[in-house]
Amino acid sequence: MRIVIDDDLCQGHGVCESEAPEVFELGKGHLVTVLDQSPGDSQRSAVEAAVRFCPTHAIRLEED
Ligand code: SF4
Repeated sequence: MRIVIDDDLCQGHGVCESEAPEVFELGKGHLVTVLDQSPGDSQRSAVEAAVRFCPTHAIRLEED
């Protein structure tokens, strides 16, 4: 899977970082940084939770 963030939608709520701290990190300016653009399957459920709970639906998953 590949993670795509829509920077126009992200408002820095940080829910993604709470759900998957090994994959997402809030940076300066409250925009999220993706630490691992293509995480392994061990991170899948955490990343899917981040997608589901992101309040602005800014995270999209693309399958390889
Ligand atoms: S949860 Fe959504 S809006 Fe919040 S920082 Fe993550 S991507 Fe951005």
